[in-house]
Amino acid sequence: MKPPPKSNGKVSSRINSFYAQWRLRHGWAFLLQELPVPPEKLLQVIWHHQRLLRDELKTVDGRRLRVLHPGFWNHEAGPDFQKAIVQFDGEAPQSGDVEIDMAPSGWRGHGHEKNPAYQKVLLHVVWEGAECNPRFPTLVLKPLLDAPIAELATWLTSEAAVGFPNALAGRCCAPLRGLGEEELLDLLRQAGLVRMFSKASQLQARARQAGWEQALWEGLFRALGFKHNVWPMLRLAELKPRLVPEKPRPGLLEIQARLLGAGGLLPKELTRTRSRTDHDVKTLWDIWWREREVYADCEMPKNLWRFAGLRPANHPERRLAAGAHWLAVNELPGRLQQWCTSKLSTTQAVQELEGSLQKDKDDFWSWHWTLRGKPMAKPQPLIGSTRVTDLAVNVILPWLWARAREGQNENLQETIEDRFLEWPAAEDNSVLKLARQRLLGSASEKLFKTSAPQQGLLQIVRDFCEHSDALCNNCRFPELVQQWWSKI
Ligand code: SF4
Repeated sequence: MKPPPKSNGKVSSRINSFYAQWRLRHGWAFLLQELPVPPEKLLQVIWHHQRLLRDELKTVDGRRLRVLHPGFWNHEAGPDFQKAIVQFDGEAPQSGDVEIDMAPSGWRGHGHEKNPAYQKVLLHVVWEGAECNPRFPTLVLKPLLDAPIAELATWLTSEAAVGFPNALAGRCCAPLRGLGEEELLDLLRQAGLVRMFSKASQLQARARQAGWEQALWEGLFRALGFKHNVWPMLRLAELKPRLVPEKPRPGLLEIQARLLGAGGLLPKELTRTRSRTDHDVKTLWDIWWREREVYADCEMPKNLWRFAGLRPANHPERRLAAGAHWLAVNELPGRLQQWCTSKLSTTQAVQELEGSLQKDKDDFWSWHWTLRGKPMAKPQPLIGSTRVTDLAVNVILPWLWARAREGQNENLQETIEDRFLEWPAAEDNSVLKLARQRLLGSASEKLFKTSAPQQGLLQIVRDFCEHSDALCNNCRFPELVQQWWSKI
């Protein structure tokens, strides 16, 4: 190989432009250099892009380390990088998570030791320190950087550092990029429909045991649990025949009190610092305490719920209050069936569904995110537009489609499929973002103006990525795409 030309010591004057000087002297990079230790974010970026002397990695206990894949950056709770693949001292490669801390003591200090989410950690990466973790090897980054920390700090603010490393793209990225935009969209929409059909089958299976309406309530409550509280929400929906019987049908406040009480979400004791809030909470509390013995076998422990990292709008107390409104009126299933047979443009369909799900105002919950929180400055709908879209694509359209299939009504099935394909995009999330970067080589949302391609991408992740590893071993998706492409 030809050696690189020797530097003559001269550099372009443009490299020292006035803007470059501003950035060096006053920008974020400069502030980083002033800090006694680099912030954890910088260590994460370094690990993500492997800005390390990769041939010289050795753990504190003297084992040679090869990083076959640094893992996928997790921006939510849990270890910093997931599904990494590493090899110690020529042993077989292992797949697991990587946690990054400033010092070895961070492991205990942050309570990771007792947190089950950290059970798959196989490597602790720290800035400095010599302590070995008894559970897995520790790697100290400070002596292993591929450039001085000041240079890395400047690089941190560049596009390259912010973006997804090309080296981490999936094997399917090249064949998918070879498709035209129309073909790619077609593939994603097909995968999206597969996802809708499989949700419909799940709802239909439940309907065979519990009836169509009960299957719908369970689906809606699960979706209201968002990703953190699916199981306690589902349990409350399963208890609906007990908590919200047809006769005598309880009123709105009774339903709210029963859902919150059975969910273990009502306070054990009342304080009296905010009189209006306390008055409303006391009303629910009194109802539940009167009935509590009757429903003692339904009561769940509060620790089934997860509150950490929840947006206020997703708080289970408020979600249950919204569900109580639907149950109190008890006309949602009928309204949804009417809605799916009405001839409506997509905009009208979205507006009508929002109208059905957001219909009622609530004296307390329109003004509060939680039972004990301060009132908001202005009222908020109990169910926002983003949640309506999630409910539509994950529960309502699959439920309606399953019913149409059972009734052998093909025209209606097609109408529902069309509505699904045209439904506006849902809110972006970290799984979708990673999938776009890994499979399509770009974080751009340009193709994702509707929900169906988003759902399709999630389905491909479920069908292929989740059964492979970070290096895409044994994944057949790339060749399937190639074969499909060569035939069209
Ligand atoms: S596992 Fe398969 S589908 Fe996922 S990124 Fe790799 S090649 Fe693509």
